[in-house]
Amino acid sequence: VFQLSFPLNFLGSVYRELRQSLIDMEVMFNLQGVEVSIKDSPNAKPLILKGGEIKFEDVVFGYHPDRPILNGISFTIPRGKKVAIVGPSGCGKSTILRLLFRFYDPQNGNIYIDGQNIKDVKLESLRANIGVDTSLFNNTIYHNIAYGQMTADREKVESAAKRARIHDVIMSLPKKYETRVGERGLMISGGEKQRVALARTILKDPPIIFFDEATSALDTHTEQSLLSNIRSFLQGSNKTSMFVAHRLRSIADADVIIVLRDGVIIEQGTHDILVQYDGIYRDMWFTQEMADPAFDEEEEEFSRK
Ligand code: ATP
Repeated sequence: VFQLSFPLNFLGSVYRELRQSLIDMEVMFNLQGVEVSIKDSPNAKPLILKGGEIKFEDVVFGYHPDRPILNGISFTIPRGKKVAIVGPSGCGKSTILRLLFRFYDPQNGNIYIDGQNIKDVKLESLRANIGVDTSLFNNTIYHNIAYGQMTADREKVESAAKRARIHDVIMSLPKKYETRVGERGLMISGGEKQRVALARTILKDPPIIFFDEATSALDTHTEQSLLSNIRSFLQGSNKTSMFVAHRLRSIADADVIIVLRDGVIIEQGTHDILVQYDGIYRDMWFTQEMADPAFDEEEEEFSRK
């Protein structure tokens, strides 16, 4: 699998683009009041959060019914825990997040948040409770951070930017928070974009958080610093978080690591347990260790945190 990492990564990036545009499309549809295929059920009720336990029960899903991606996935994440989903490129990691966000419904099985089937809750309340590291819109940095929280005052927006360690960068730009970013605006770096998106999540302060490393084409250093910002944001917050990760060291501290392959969960446990077990996770861990000359150094840094 890893010998093929170049072409698979390339394909991965194609789907990443698709995913990004999917999220943007959803946002756009919402803004324009256009109907999307997933709708509230007639008796939909608002989601009532009781800590953010997430449960997948025998979930089967394929974008095209004749090509299943998930083949009966079951797992439970207790509230307030950090879970990581790992596995080969294209195995369906981001798909799990998309299903939870209800961009699609599973063909079989059910997904629950705090015991409520997400099919039966109001979409708006579902999405309001989940933070996701979406891409930036063509708008000012201020609006990109305040998106969805239009009542947030300037002080709150700036405080979120400070916590995401992007405030100083913003202040160094000629137009500061009024700088336009996105396709038609200033091209800020990948790491800066992610920190703006993180500031948005911090401001939204949702009980459930997703981070999809697939969206980041960051250099190791930027990624490490972003992850440490995310870690400090999550620390002691009691938020349930789900990470999709390629670089295993970034999620080695997760409470549960789920290893996905060929549409099923093949391993599940903490890093310490999985790395001792003669399986895929252990293979992936040591393959990455050998492939990355900087690994030892960063690994030491990671374990000191
Ligand atoms: P990566 O590690 O490369 O980010 P992943 O494990 O997150 O991949 P997903 O993005 O969940 O994988 O995609 C799983 C599979 O579903 C992909 O191999 C792709 O073939 C397919 N797929 C993803 N998005 C779509 C879509 N919008 N329409 C059709 N097929 C899709």
